[in-house]
Amino acid sequence: MPVTTTVYLHDQADYRIVFAKCVELIGAPARTRTSDDGGMVSTSPDQGLCAWTWVEYGQDGPPLRTTPVPHNQHCDPGCGYQHAPACWIEAVFDTSDGYHDDHGGAGTLHQRLVTGLGQWLDAQAVRWSWRNHGDGTLHDRHDGLAGLTLLDK
Ligand SMILES: [Zn+2]
Repeated sequence: MPVTTTVYLHDQADYRIVFAKCVELIGAPARTRTSDDGGMVSTSPDQGLCAWTWVEYGQDGPPLRTTPVPHNQHCDPGCGYQHAPACWIEAVFDTSDGYHDDHGGAGTLHQRLVTGLGQWLDAQAVRWSWRNHGDGTLHDRHDGLAGLTLLDK
């Protein structure tokens, strides 16, 4: 399974600047190809980067979402899943299965990426939370980041 983490920004921030920070965090070179479809800006695939990254800001946004995503007809009765919260924008990192570098696997990489983005957001007093898509849990700020290393293969 690929390792995917989402960071939800709960205060206003310029999605272009947040995306530029995400691109910097994955160590992408200046010539990196990106695209903006009018609702999401992303790195283009197949460039040999350690992660894809994209920022969703919504076709009519930002804000991307003014209320949390509700339970829907696909949910089990008594669904305990925490659907996506209201947010200004969301930033996503996604790394393919089997990734490895000098520090560890994809989970360790994502711990580094989310920590880096979080510290940058903290410095601007932007509130944030994040999801570990490995187990679906939502966390406030730096809570639970160590658990990402458990996703290393
Ligand atoms: Zn549900």
